[in-house]
Amino acid sequence: MNATAEPAVVSADSITRRYRTTHGDITPVHEVSLAVRRGEILGIRGPSGSGKSTLLRLLAGMERPDSGQLRYRDRAAWPARSRTARYPRAGYVMPIFQDPSASLDPRWPIWRTLTEPLTASGNPGRAALRATARQWLDRARLGHLDPTARPGQISGGQRQRVALLRALIAEPALIVADEPTARQDVITAAAMSELLTNASQSGTAIIVVSHDTTWLRGIAHHVLPLWIGSPNSAG
Ligand code: ADP
Ligand code: MG
Repeated sequence: MNATAEPAVVSADSITRRYRTTHGDITPVHEVSLAVRRGEILGIRGPSGSGKSTLLRLLAGMERPDSGQLRYRDRAAWPARSRTARYPRAGYVMPIFQDPSASLDPRWPIWRTLTEPLTASGNPGRAALRATARQWLDRARLGHLDPTARPGQISGGQRQRVALLRALIAEPALIVADEPTARQDVITAAAMSELLTNASQSGTAIIVVSHDTTWLRGIAHHVLPLWIGSPNSAG
């Protein structure tokens, strides 16, 4: 089977999401179509309120589209009457939120947070987990961090990179990242680019939202622009 015959890691066919608010209905995601294949990085940009975060939640299977079809590989993500999305395997999608504290337990040392996804299928032991955490910290140019530090003891940019490492360590097929460089310095943004690019080169599909169009153009293979209240497509 050649690469083009392989089904996309995620594809959306005219997906729409509506919310009912006290001021009436709004439709932040209106008939969006896209497809992201193995190793591809799709960037999404658009003004505040254009539905970027809503679209990411839909693509990650965290919310169900009101209409249209979402697929992981060639299977519907939302079978009829299903209350949760159906993934091809556990850990298929890893989301990275704008606020890294959402994925970091403040009470846990960094090494434990990083390696927690690895313990889902049995525990390789504390020493092995700490060694793995070290290797991953080195890769993210965070080798100088104390793996026993708690999230509150490291900087915001370091927390953001730890959250990304935690997602990568699970070897997901798809990463969706919401503004991973927001409020970060240039060094952190460069380190995030390097980690995302390396992950894509080893086959991970990546969808990343950013306000920073220069940064986005530097890493994404395609960029989908969103506007407030118009249909969009890409891929
Ligand atoms: P962006 O990430 O591009 O800033 P969002 O996807 O967060 O945009 O939001 C798009 C629009 O949808 C905004 O007007 C926002 O207030 C609205 N919205 C997002 N989530 C909800 C929700 N759960 N309920 C009602 N409205 C929402
Ligand atoms: Mg947002």
